[in-house]
Formats: sequence, C-alpha cells, structure tokens
Amino acid sequence: MIKSLWLKLLITLSTISLIALSSSLILRELMIKDFREFLEGELEDRVYWVTADLEGTYEKFGEWKAEAISEDITWALMLGLETKVFDNEGRLVIDTDKAINMLPPLMKRRTLAISGLGRERRDKNEFVAYPLFLGGKEIGSLGVRFLKTGRENIYIKRSDRFLLLSLLIIGGLTIILSIISSRRLTKPIERLNTAAEAIGEGNLKSRVNISGTDELARLAATFNSMAKSLETQESLRKKLISNIAHELRTPVSAIKGEIEGMIDGIIPINKEGLQSLNEEISRLKFLIEGLEELAQAQASTLMLRKQSINLHQFLKNIMDRFHRAFRDKNITAEIRCDEGLTVTADPERLSQIIINLLDNGLKATGQGGKIWIAAGAKDFDTYIEIGDTGCGIKQEELPFIFERFYRSFSGGLGLGLAIVKELVDAHNGRIEVKSEYGKGTVFTILLPKNNFGEAANG
Ligand code: ADP
Repeated sequence: MIKSLWLKLLITLSTISLIALSSSLILRELMIKDFREFLEGELEDRVYWVTADLEGTYEKFGEWKAEAISEDITWALMLGLETKVFDNEGRLVIDTDKAINMLPPLMKRRTLAISGLGRERRDKNEFVAYPLFLGGKEIGSLGVRFLKTGRENIYIKRSDRFLLLSLLIIGGLTIILSIISSRRLTKPIERLNTAAEAIGEGNLKSRVNISGTDELARLAATFNSMAKSLETQESLRKKLISNIAHELRTPVSAIKGEIEGMIDGIIPINKEGLQSLNEEISRLKFLIEGLEELAQAQASTLMLRKQSINLHQFLKNIMDRFHRAFRDKNITAEIRCDEGLTVTADPERLSQIIINLLDNGLKATGQGGKIWIAAGAKDFDTYIEIGDTGCGIKQEELPFIFERFYRSFSGGLGLGLAIVKELVDAHNGRIEVKSEYGKGTVFTILLPKNNFGEAANG
C-alpha cells in the first residue's frame, strides 16, 4: 500500500495527464489521416488537369509527340507527379526523366531542385495507370506516381514536435503541481498530527493554527474546540475531586476526633456521644447522595423519558408538597399558568428541577414572604419562572451560584443548582437568574417547545 500522500497525489495527477496525452495522440492520428485524405483529393485533381492537358496536346498534333508533351510532363512534375505516357499500343512515349533531359541544363537543374525528384524517388510509390481518351477512343495511358511534397512531412514533424513539447510541459507541471499541492495538504495534517500527539501525551493546551475555510481548517477548528472542551473537563474534574475531598474531610475529621476522644477517655462513650457521631455520619451520607444525584443528572441526557406534560396540574402537585413548609413560615404561594399549557419534558427530572428551586426559595424567604411559579409560552420556548421575595443574591455572587459546592445557605451542599443546570441542559433548555440583594430572586427555565425527536428521547 502507498503510504505517502505526496506519492498518491503524484500518481493521480500523472494518470490524469497520461489520459490527456493519449487522447491528444489519438487526435493527432485523426488529424493526420484527415490531412492525407485532403492531400490525396488534391493530387487526384492534379492528375485530372494533366490528363486533360495531354489529351489536348494529342488532339492538336493528331499523334503522340514527345517534344510536344514534354512541357506537360515537366509541369506535372512541378505539381508533384512523376509520370509516364504510353501510346495505345503500350509503347512508352515519354517519361519524367526523359522530359527533364530535354530541358536546357539550367532549367533542368532548377526543375530537379524545385520538384525534389532526386530525394523523393527513394519513397518508391507504385505507378497508377490512367487511360487517355479522345472522342471516346482510347489513345493511350498515363502512369502516375505521387511524389511526397514534403508539406505532409513538415506537418507531421511539426505536430510530433508539438506533442513532445506538451508532454514535457505537462509532465513537468504534473510533478511541480503534485509537490506544491501535497505540501499544502500534508503540512496542516502534520500540524494536526503533532497537536493530537501532544494531547495524547497529556498537554491539553496544545492547539493547531490553520487559516482558511476549507475542510482542513474546519477540522482544525473542531480539533481546537475538542481540545478546549477536554481541557475544561479536565480542570473541572480536578476541581470536583478537590471539592469532594474538602467536603469529606470535615465530617471525617469530626468523626475521627470524636472516636479518638472516646478512646482516650476524654469523651464519654454514651448515647449523646454516639448520637453526635451518627449526625456526622448522616452528613457524610447526605453528601454522598448529593454526589450521586449530580452524577445521575449529568448522565440524564442519555436517559430522558420525555412526554407531554400538562403544566398547570403538574406545578400544582409539586407546590402542594410544600404546603406545610409554606404555612409554617406564613409564606404566600401562587401559581400563574394557563390550564391548557403543556411542555415536553421528562416529568421526573422536571419535578426535580422545580423542587430544588422551590427548596432554595423556601430557604431564602423569611416569615410572611411570597413564592410564586409562573409559566407560559415565549417565542419558541415554554418558560417556567420560580420567584421569591427572599434575601436575594449579591451581584458578585451571581456568576458562581451554578458551580458545584458553591453555597451561602447553611446546611446545604451547594449542589442543588449544579444539578438543576445539568437537568435543564439535558432538555436542551436554558436557565436564567435575576436577583436583587435583600429583595428577592427569580429563576427562569426556558425549554424548547418542540423538544421531541432528540437522541436523548428515551
Ligand atoms: P444548596 O444545595 O446548598 O442550596 P444550591 O446550589 O442550590 O446549593 O445554591 C447555591 C447557592 O445559591 C445557595 O447557597 C445560595 O447562596 C444561592 N441561592 C440559590 N437560590 C437562591 C434563592 N432563591 N435566593 C437566594 N439565594 C439563593
């Protein structure tokens, strides 16, 4: 198998130019054939002129006279015809050699030079006989041999030279072109290869710089965005691991401290001590469950069971679950949603989103506050808005609230909004937040109306 792209290109281009050259060879043959036919037609005409002339001269003298027709024979020679004239009994009257010998020496030399008889005779064409008539009676015959005029040879030689020249030019151009184009093609591929190798070795910062709009430039852009996403994923992974380690360290250290205290006899081994240990372990369990929930949310893209949901009833059912908690804090709850409004989503995941947001609203809102859900249609989306008149979020904190483990509420893990974002993304939706510190917060989820037909649609 041919491995080098350069060689492949050279072979392809050479094949194309070979095809082009062989078609020009065929064209050359056809043209020469045409040219020969044209010349033969032309010679036939000349033979006709000579026979007419000879017959005229015979008529004038009433017999064959060598001296009288020698002029016609010389003229025939000038037309490219070597001739012999026979009487009706087959005796030779005159031929070209004899006619030339009858010319004065200077004329003879000139005629021979112009006609090229000496040179062309070597080609040895056969003599062709043409009968000569006068008044319907055969008076003799004319033997004719076509002398090559030289024009034909010049034409053929010229076309051959032209063909050789084009062969050299096309061949040279093929090689130059394949070198240039293969370099153009292989250079960016080599650069891509180097970058891919660097990424394979762990250098996720490696990128390729290929300008233009062709397929290779697009491939490079795709490669760069893939490398960027790998880099982001890798840094997120590192951050997540360090966050998890940090989150685990606190309860584990507390448990270890308490057990060591019990071993050393500083903390008594009684019900209260064990209860405290149990609380720390519950916190660990809570953290592990939160992480599990986040992992499930991340994987949910592949497992969504979408269906059309009647939003009014759906939201009401969720709100009802918070009834007691709202009542305890004297919070007014409200739903604003048209009865017939529907959305395409996975009901389990959507309720998880809304519960998380209502839960945060509940934590943020104090006695006598208000929490509402409003839903409706907006352009190509269905929106679900969850608002509260709670503590609000500081502007400088807003960019971080969807990050894992970011929290200001005590007791939370800081995973709720990260899970919400993953689930909204899985539905090809968006989540927006508006908040005024001290006044309240509104989260808006936008889900595309036509949300069926995704690969994720389980
Ligand atoms: P947690 O699980 O700890 O509640 P979240 O990811 O749900 O974490 O929220 C992260 C942080 O975003 C919260 O600790 C809080 O600071 C802020 N936040 C979320 N929702 C609200 C809200 N409705 N009002 C005020 N702050 C909020």
